[in-house]
Amino acid sequence: MTTQLSPATLGILLSRLETFSAVKHKLEQYATPSQLAATFLYTARNDLSGKRVLDLGAGTGILGLGAALLGAHVICVEKDADAMAILRKNLDSLTPLSSGSVTEVLADIDEFAPVRVDTVIMNPPFGTKDDGADKRFLRKAFACAPVVWSMHKTTTITHLERFAQDVGFTLTARNAVDFAIPKTHPLHRKKRVDVAVTIVCFRKAH
Ligand code: SAH
Repeated sequence: MTTQLSPATLGILLSRLETFSAVKHKLEQYATPSQLAATFLYTARNDLSGKRVLDLGAGTGILGLGAALLGAHVICVEKDADAMAILRKNLDSLTPLSSGSVTEVLADIDEFAPVRVDTVIMNPPFGTKDDGADKRFLRKAFACAPVVWSMHKTTTITHLERFAQDVGFTLTARNAVDFAIPKTHPLHRKKRVDVAVTIVCFRKAH
């Protein structure tokens, strides 16, 4: 498989992956919908193909494994063993199609010693259940790479842009999207809710 996958083909491959079986709300386990993951990865493709990449809070692997389909050499870090077990199954199903590679690390990102990579990709907790998680993820990402592709609640972007600036990173791209979160909680009244999310890229200022 080459790195020339179209966003549509990428979306189809990613739609076949298994997702969380029992969502752990405290960990903010909201899997990126496959079409959104394809858009995210395709937008970031020049920072992925042939690069060393870190996926923080990899969940069931849709971003990290998708990046490997585009030729990235990816380290997936996830603290939930149940999610990691699904990620491994997904890896088995995609490995034959992958031009990159994937290494799994079962760890809390707070305890994961920074490694130097070219690019971090992530759909981190938005910090709604786990206060400050979005900034902890960003801080770890900035310690590991000069380029960070991430997604956040649109309402938090201005604040996160300032947070990034303070540590020498500039917001260089943004793309507003709807993130459909399916009803997974008994207290949710609607079948799904659309959360306004923005895909962002932060780059280290020279
Ligand atoms: N990246 C996946 C999952 C997003 S949900 C996707 O795009 O579908 C956020 C993920 O971060 C969950 O899998 C959750 O278990 C994980 N997570 C939350 N806090 C974490 C932490 N401190 N360290 C590592 N992973 C964490």
